[in-house]
Amino acid sequence: MNNTRQIAFGYSTWCNIKCDHCVAAHDGSLEMKMALENAIQIIEEMSRSDVAGISFTAGEPLLYLNDMKELVQRCKLQNIYSRIVTNGYWSKTRDRSNEVVSALKDVGLSQLRISFSRWHQKNVSRENILNAALSCQRYGLDYFISFVTDFRKEDDAQEQFLQDNQLKYFPEPLIYFGNAEGITPPPVFTDYPAHRCAMSPYLSPELDMFACCDAGTQFTKTDAFYLGNLKNHSVDHLFQKKEKNLLFHLIKTMGLTAMASFLGFKASEIVKYRKCNLCEALFNSPDHLEHLKEIATTELLHWTR
Ligand code: SF4
Ligand code: SF4
Repeated sequence: MNNTRQIAFGYSTWCNIKCDHCVAAHDGSLEMKMALENAIQIIEEMSRSDVAGISFTAGEPLLYLNDMKELVQRCKLQNIYSRIVTNGYWSKTRDRSNEVVSALKDVGLSQLRISFSRWHQKNVSRENILNAALSCQRYGLDYFISFVTDFRKEDDAQEQFLQDNQLKYFPEPLIYFGNAEGITPPPVFTDYPAHRCAMSPYLSPELDMFACCDAGTQFTKTDAFYLGNLKNHSVDHLFQKKEKNLLFHLIKTMGLTAMASFLGFKASEIVKYRKCNLCEALFNSPDHLEHLKEIATTELLHWTR
């Protein structure tokens, strides 16, 4: 039994706000939605394929509150851990927030992940985030706040709000893809990080499955992380495709930094990359990808200290 399978489930790419940093939505991207019946069948198939966790994400899942309740309930019945990622637009008042959170708790939601950043909060009041978190506390629904930041000083005030209200939050580095491509990144001031990545797969509303739920879906020069479409393949087959891919395994274990160094990137160059950008430099480059594939089972696999 493989109990490590989990997936970001893109039920719909529709969102009611437009964040300047959004990785999921970018100019020209289409708003798509899966059919509810289809989603239910896929969850059942995922259960048979030992998927242990589903995170409903992509656009704003709670725009389809009734559908989400149905899907979460299916997860609960199949013993699948369920999470919803939300921008909190719905928690304008404490009453409404309590209503939504208690309904989600009743159908068996495992966790609510609430997005928060200086970009989200141009569209959604910080009070919404507080309401949603307090409702989770009140009804015993596990939650955390995903504090997306590019680590600029101006984000301190946002973070202070979370601290002042004693909310559970985790800083999340901005990913410079999608809409965020237009944001100038501040220089990186870190050590020499391994850049290992857990690689959560992503299912799109069109039923395309990718090995990665973030920037990797946009590596269109190589389609390196594209696994296939559920219309043509089973859930189990596509998970196996990911699990048997040695390069994906090395992203998790060896890390992108060591792979880049092996390919000849200078240390002084590597340190300028953020994780997903370094991933792009390796996996969205036909030459680098070809080379990595050639050496994956030989030199690269044995290139250890
Ligand atoms: S970051 Fe989230 S809330 Fe903002 S536009 Fe994208 S999907 Fe919507
Ligand atoms: S490092 Fe690569 S695999 Fe990991 S989230 Fe970024 S693009 Fe995806």
